[in-house]
Amino acid sequence: MSAIIALRHVNQWYNKGKENEVHALNDISLEIEQGDYVAFFGPSGCGKTTLLYATSGIDRISDGEILIKSRDIAHFSNQELAIFRQTGIGIIFQQFNLVPSLTVLQNVALPLAFVGVHKEKAEEEAAKLLKKINLEKYATHYPTELSGGQQQRVGIARALANNPPIIIADEPLGNLDSMNAKNVLEILKKLNEEDGKTIIMVTHESWSLQDVRTVYHMKDGVITSIEKRVAQQVGITTPKSSEEEQQEFIKKQLAKEAKKAESLHMISRILSSFFMRGHTFEETDRFETILLDRFTKKLDSMQYIALLCAPFNKKGAGLWKKKAERVSLYVEDLLEKQKSLDQVIDNLNKNPVMPITEEIKHLRNIMAEEYIGTISTYRNEILDELIGDRIRGNISAEHFLQLLHTPVKEAGAGIPVHTAQKMAERLEIIVGGAEIFDPIV
Ligand code: ADP
Ligand code: MG
Repeated sequence: MSAIIALRHVNQWYNKGKENEVHALNDISLEIEQGDYVAFFGPSGCGKTTLLYATSGIDRISDGEILIKSRDIAHFSNQELAIFRQTGIGIIFQQFNLVPSLTVLQNVALPLAFVGVHKEKAEEEAAKLLKKINLEKYATHYPTELSGGQQQRVGIARALANNPPIIIADEPLGNLDSMNAKNVLEILKKLNEEDGKTIIMVTHESWSLQDVRTVYHMKDGVITSIEKRVAQQVGITTPKSSEEEQQEFIKKQLAKEAKKAESLHMISRILSSFFMRGHTFEETDRFETILLDRFTKKLDSMQYIALLCAPFNKKGAGLWKKKAERVSLYVEDLLEKQKSLDQVIDNLNKNPVMPITEEIKHLRNIMAEEYIGTISTYRNEILDELIGDRIRGNISAEHFLQLLHTPVKEAGAGIPVHTAQKMAERLEIIVGGAEIFDPIV
């Protein structure tokens, strides 16, 4: 097993240098293994919440290092941290923290919306998660119409929305009666055992440690001991026959495959949130499908670039060639050079992708360079629509040219024919020529 999170000499002070200074974490070093189920355990005020929020990069620490998958998040930029929080961890709160004005379904879809997933798709995913926690019947209800236990399950579904590898929970059972608490523990156990989530829970009640495998005992900002527990065995275990063993093995392999598929799905979704901002829901969906086919090697690199550029009605995602090539660089990095998704995201953050509306404006500015300022806002809007249609492959180069010099009252851009010709030619050069709209497949 490898450490998913490592803390090195972490210190946290509140009100440092003041009269009311608190040294909430005192030189804490620890490593959490991927797939472990961990608890920070100790009396109220000992620093559990502070440690949880430091460990997961939610709060910045005063001193020390926090390595998540070997990257020091203590020195992440705010933007990097935001991305990490949105896709790297899911948080379950004691107070549930559901938005009262949104339905249960909308609450669960919210984190997806934040990373740019389109509404329909986000709600589709949210519905699946509600099903997982057996609350699909309550999709259109509002949080206050649910019991505390149900609200906490919605909280869990929301924490899972972006399929984060790490789930953190601060006293998740604190507001629940014992029946509901048991139910929530059952869900956490499943997430750990079946979905492979790394779980970090904060608690001050020993009965909630029943499924935990590593307990960090805390007192006054210090870890006093680390207890490794063997998962509790229920009932008497009998030796397994080889057939049973084999079945178990197959089951495990299947679960592994499912997990792999799920993480590829997540990678496609993350990349689409970077590249498909401003595109239609259908195009985004298509983009993800094409990426998935590339990840699973159903397409070779040429085929999938062609598909990325192909118009929507020809099974494409309607990107312009330069953008498709850029997407391809990242995807091939992931596939061949074995770069981690973290590195790819890092790179994407350093070289942000323009939303398509900005891209179109950018193209228009290059295409109509000499005329900037002389074209009316209204005509610019028409130009943007035409450019959008052209780069999505909805219209041919010839058709585009024709529309450029068609009079405004006949739904064209009303550009004099010579100028129109120059502009159209320029656009074709920028977007990579007409051949890209004729995919090989
Ligand atoms: P626990 O979760 O174990 O109850 P906390 O991590 O919340 O403990 O708090 C640890 C210590 O830090 C406590 O003494 C608490 O009063 C103090 N503390 C926590 N948050 C703050 C804050 N924002 N400002 C000042 N002191 C704080
Ligand atoms: Mg606390």
